[in-house]
Amino acid sequence: MEISYTRYRVYRECPWKYKLLFVDGRKIPLTAKSSFGLSLHRALEKWLRGGTFDLDSLLDALDSQWLRSGYADESDENKWRTKAERALTRFHQDEESRRARTVGVEKEFVFPVGTHQARGMIDRIDQGPDGAYEIIDYKTGPGVPTAAQVAADPQMRFYALGLSRGLHMEPSTLTVDCVVAGARVSAAYDPSGVDSLAADVRAAASGIEAAVFEPNTSFCQRCDFRKDCAYSVAK
Ligand code: SF4
Repeated sequence: MEISYTRYRVYRECPWKYKLLFVDGRKIPLTAKSSFGLSLHRALEKWLRGGTFDLDSLLDALDSQWLRSGYADESDENKWRTKAERALTRFHQDEESRRARTVGVEKEFVFPVGTHQARGMIDRIDQGPDGAYEIIDYKTGPGVPTAAQVAADPQMRFYALGLSRGLHMEPSTLTVDCVVAGARVSAAYDPSGVDSLAADVRAAASGIEAAVFEPNTSFCQRCDFRKDCAYSVAK
């Protein structure tokens, strides 16, 4: 059994939602927000891998990676596109002041959790002048987390576990780069609690393998399937 962070998160939110998405193959249609976020992630990946770091290359990457689905109409799409160009232009200015070296882009890791495997992809890994590793995750929503939220974020902690156990690089800093808000929030990584996270990932993988898909209705209000799920309490 192989489990990614997304699968782990969805199973923890509601096992029945996991079944709808990953067993039955239900799809969640792209929205303007998700399409915009995906386009920015793909553009940044292409640009960082490309080896030419000027602004024109970044905007070209956006052009080639822009997804056109999810928008209400062309004018809505143009609005989001302008927002993306503005965000990446500002991102590029901030980037010029960074002293760290990028050592991984969309870097995949795999590590064992009991008899299962955990797999994931880290947006970016930088190495500072002192040799320390920094995990960077791009966020494209309007919010900016606090440093305490970054330190406790389960996704960042899952990635830190993956960097350490899968790629044998010890993380020192966790950073959420809020590309649209233009803020970068970092927290020192504290590895205490890694064993309980690994145990929880293993328990989720075992539950999936055993096809234990009990609905968790406390999550219905925020669920994409709330309108037609048989167990929904938020129809
Ligand atoms: S609507 Fe509720 S019970 Fe149904 S999948 Fe979503 S969270 Fe689970």
